[in-house]
Amino acid sequence: MAIAIDQAKHVSEARGEVERVVEIIETACSIPTVIQGKTLEGIAGSINGRVIRQPLGVFGGIAPFNFPALVFGWFIPFAIGVGNTFVYKPSTQSPYFMQKMGEIFTDINLPKGVVNIIHGNRTVPQAWYEHPNVSGVCLVGSTPTAKKIAEGCGRGGKRSMLLGGAKNYLVAMEDVQTDIFIQNFINSCYGSAGQRCLAGSIVAAVPEVYDSLIEKMVEASKKVVVGDAMDSNVFMGPVISVAAKAKIEEYIEIGIEGGSKLVLDGRNPKVPEKNKNGYFVGPTIFTDVTPCRRIVQEEIFGPVVSVMKISGIDDVLQLIREQEFGNGACIFTQNMFYAEKFISEADVGMIGVNVGVPAPHPYLPFGGIKDSHLGTDKVQGIDGIDFFTQNKIATIRFAPPEGYVSGDDSQAASAGGNPKVRSCVAK
Ligand code: NAD
Repeated sequence: MAIAIDQAKHVSEARGEVERVVEIIETACSIPTVIQGKTLEGIAGSINGRVIRQPLGVFGGIAPFNFPALVFGWFIPFAIGVGNTFVYKPSTQSPYFMQKMGEIFTDINLPKGVVNIIHGNRTVPQAWYEHPNVSGVCLVGSTPTAKKIAEGCGRGGKRSMLLGGAKNYLVAMEDVQTDIFIQNFINSCYGSAGQRCLAGSIVAAVPEVYDSLIEKMVEASKKVVVGDAMDSNVFMGPVISVAAKAKIEEYIEIGIEGGSKLVLDGRNPKVPEKNKNGYFVGPTIFTDVTPCRRIVQEEIFGPVVSVMKISGIDDVLQLIREQEFGNGACIFTQNMFYAEKFISEADVGMIGVNVGVPAPHPYLPFGGIKDSHLGTDKVQGIDGIDFFTQNKIATIRFAPPEGYVSGDDSQAASAGGNPKVRSCVAK
């Protein structure tokens, strides 16, 4: 409810987000098993090697507006689970969830200083880059912000885990199962009003299905109910701010001016009178889009979909390769060759096959490549643990004490012990 109030994400999606965080916390509970060190015995004579994993100290983390709970889950359970402390800056646009979490931390007697919540703008992390006690900085946000933080961390010699922006393809091949595609298209492109880093924003379809899919996409999109995020009959709430609404509408203008065909216009969608001042943008579809258009290249972060005709799998793989972003991409096909080729060659970090939002489960790493991910590790899974720990490697020689003879415990005997090494094996 806190997320729906604060960010206007539909309440059912907000519940889903919190359920995912619970799964992440459950995964983080396996840390004592996963974090155990390793020993390599007998490297040479009486020499063993041992790797131990230790926490680093203090980490700072910065969240975007669109996933106030999930990003808390990506950072804090793993960071403190391995023994660090954490300073967390929520987005100024959606600070309420984390404020409530702060109250929960107090209620459960989490030791003071383990998690620290600080509200503020972009100046907050400035103090972290140079501070000797801070070991690293994490961000989930736009790519320009990730690049600025990467610079600060580079200067200060800090670790960084920075998830940036995205532009994700949904690819439909000639054997696409239409019902599955349409269901996933609606969820992927319009869930959270398109304000998701794994939201589909480009549909690339081969000529065999291009026209029929557009017809069905428009038909299904027209049925998407826009309105109050608390209303169970609504699918899509408003976008985050008046500025976000203006930016999305500007991209719709850019699409029209660039020559793409606006077949569904989401500007000024029909909403109940009581919601008329909300920042609503309805499902929007452009067709006949060509690859170099700004609406294809740039992140719009709203419910605007560009539909493009592709000649085949190699064509779309090349388009994905040329993109600056590399977060996610999904293919809809029954053909194993297409699926395996796409998994292997799509130049993105997270791939879906007949899945519209390819978000990995908490025990697997989550993150893109190229401009969608800067820094070292990804979030959650083993990557989440690696980022927040450092390895120490010990080389141990254990030479016997002076006078020790193997099998002869005469020394033990002189100390009152048994003079002989005994055995229960029948002779
Ligand atoms: P944003 O980059 O504007 O802000 C993110 C956070 O960084 C906010 O807390 C903001 O206060 C802070 N910030 C902004 N400029 C900063 C600076 N110069 N130095 C330090 N901190 C700064 O992003 P947003 O609009 O809140 O969120 C949307 C963006 O986040 C989209 O680009 C989306 O793709 C991305 N995102 C990515 C993922 C992912 O997994 N890759 C997940 C969610 C959101």
